[in-house]
Amino acid sequence: MTIAEFQRLINVMYSDKDRARGTPATFLWLIEEIGELAAAVAEGTQEEKAAEFADVLAWIATIANVEGVDLTAAIQEKYGRGCPGCGREVCQCDTKNVQV
Ligand SMILES: [Mg+2]
Ligand SMILES: [Zn+2]
Repeated sequence: MTIAEFQRLINVMYSDKDRARGTPATFLWLIEEIGELAAAVAEGTQEEKAAEFADVLAWIATIANVEGVDLTAAIQEKYGRGCPGCGREVCQCDTKNVQV
């Protein structure tokens, strides 16, 4: 499944509920799932980690849908030509913190 197919699937499954709930309340669900991912990474099985990564991506896709953002276009625009800081495929920036 591509990111575009996933975003479309999430839209079909959840868009009515997501739009009714709105971004602020939906964002809280994302934060809750990020907490679950943190716990899984710290002490979960590979299966639990995988499930929590899936949940976080699902909530990211949901919020992007509510906000009208095409994730495929967004990542292509920002990362499709290499590091946003230095433009290289293998980052040569002095700091690691260049995803601004
Ligand atoms: Mg979860
Ligand atoms: Zn770089």
